[in-house]
Amino acid sequence: MKTFNGIKSNVGSQSYQLDQTDCTGCEICVGIIPENFVVENGKAWFLDSNGNKVLTVNYGSDDAEKMQEAIDSCPASCIEVIG
Ligand code: SF4
Repeated sequence: MKTFNGIKSNVGSQSYQLDQTDCTGCEICVGIIPENFVVENGKAWFLDSNGNKVLTVNYGSDDAEKMQEAIDSCPASCIEVIG
């Protein structure tokens, strides 16, 4: 299992939600920002700052551009900005 190595800034924190219902496990999101996603048993999860698998998460503004790319690239529209 992937582990998280690094301290992330939560400046400009944005909340994200992952709906696994239609996730195909294609790993496109992992390829775009591997420190924030992991796929296990065919479904994607976010990795929080402790390396835990979660379905809602906050990431700082440093990640915003790559997260938007992941959102735009996900073929199943699983990832969305909330709040
Ligand atoms: S890009 Fe979308 S469909 Fe593919 S693994 Fe990530 S969340 Fe799932």
